[in-house]
Amino acid sequence: MSKRIYQEYPYLRSAAVTPKAVLRGEEEHAAAGVRYLKGCITVLSEDSLFFPEGGGQPCDLGYMGGLRLSDVKDDKKSGLIVHRLEEGELSFGEDRSLPCELDWQRRFDHMQMHCAEHIVSGTFLRLYGVENHGFHMGEDYMTIDMTPGEDSPVSEITDEMIRTVELRSNEIVWEDLPVRTVYYDTREEANSQPVRKQILFDEDISVVFIGTEEEPVDCCACCGTHVSSTGQIGLISIQKSENYKGMLRLTLKAGRPAVTEALREQQSVLRLCRRFSAEPPELEDKVAAYENKNGLIRKELYDLKKDILAEEAGRVAEAAMAASASEGRAKPFSVHEFPMLQAADLQDLAHLLDGRLSGLAVLVSGKTPDAVLVSGGDPACGSLVKDYAPIYQGKGGGNPKLARAIFKSREDLELFIDLIDKHLR
Ligand SMILES: [Zn+2]
Repeated sequence: MSKRIYQEYPYLRSAAVTPKAVLRGEEEHAAAGVRYLKGCITVLSEDSLFFPEGGGQPCDLGYMGGLRLSDVKDDKKSGLIVHRLEEGELSFGEDRSLPCELDWQRRFDHMQMHCAEHIVSGTFLRLYGVENHGFHMGEDYMTIDMTPGEDSPVSEITDEMIRTVELRSNEIVWEDLPVRTVYYDTREEANSQPVRKQILFDEDISVVFIGTEEEPVDCCACCGTHVSSTGQIGLISIQKSENYKGMLRLTLKAGRPAVTEALREQQSVLRLCRRFSAEPPELEDKVAAYENKNGLIRKELYDLKKDILAEEAGRVAEAAMAASASEGRAKPFSVHEFPMLQAADLQDLAHLLDGRLSGLAVLVSGKTPDAVLVSGGDPACGSLVKDYAPIYQGKGGGNPKLARAIFKSREDLELFIDLIDKHLR
């Protein structure tokens, strides 16, 4: 097979490519079956500097004829590469070729990450017989879905195994082993190599070898781009493992994205260390001690509040009774203000008043323009809030015995209380 530029020279950052066709507006290319894409110029070519999306790896980006690329895809049917470019004036070279510039940082990130994925997958297989069933590469992370294979000596993938594979993978980085891509004409020939997965197709077979050919760290069919030696990966970090459709999904980072994140996390840990006056190894213990102390304080506060609310409930019940006796209304009504209590506390207080009121009591928070209505069920608190709170831009609701009303201002809350007072006379 003839190799494309990105396959033959994965380190080449610029090259000129002669287009087969340039489609503008609504033009279509029959052979490639390429559809018009709004706001794009489409360039079709046999060869490319840019890796087209495939095998779990996103496409390369950069500039073609001076215009920014937004997408590169392989059209298997015609064998052409489809480049989508921003609209504008294409600058051709004298020989009608288009100068291409690769977004090298993006490409190199992908080369580092893809190679790391091979190392981790190959190491899981060799150490534990664990197989890779799916791979996805995002902007700065990858996921691998895996399970123990039929002949695996293990029944599940443990955290200890993940840490062992992570360390061994980084050792392979330090060993700076060669990475080679070999192209084969037939699947028989390719499958006679120590491949991690049997190859089931016959066209464009490329196999990546990491390490020696006899005993490779990984040997797997792959169309992606890779660094030429493992040392260039720098760092491999397995960040997360979770169950996914009966498999274990690992999230990992490698290369620049892994190093960038490690340095950022280090800064964050050091800031926390300063806040907790701790050295990094003590940080977790210090935070646990702090949480423990916090829990005790919360428990103390809860007990104190319980006592205060019980006392307040007695006072409200007494005052409500006195109000109903003195006013002689059909439905007794009283308002009680609590400068230090939040609406949630008032709700707890209302529960303590259950069965102790003959009319309606309104509990008002001094912290927010909120009120809690509580009664024995007549008048029905929920209906009062539903019917009258919206008149003053309020909202809320509840049941006949207890309801909450929330307002935007103290004035609105007071007007609402006045209205209920009049309604109950
Ligand atoms: Zn690969």
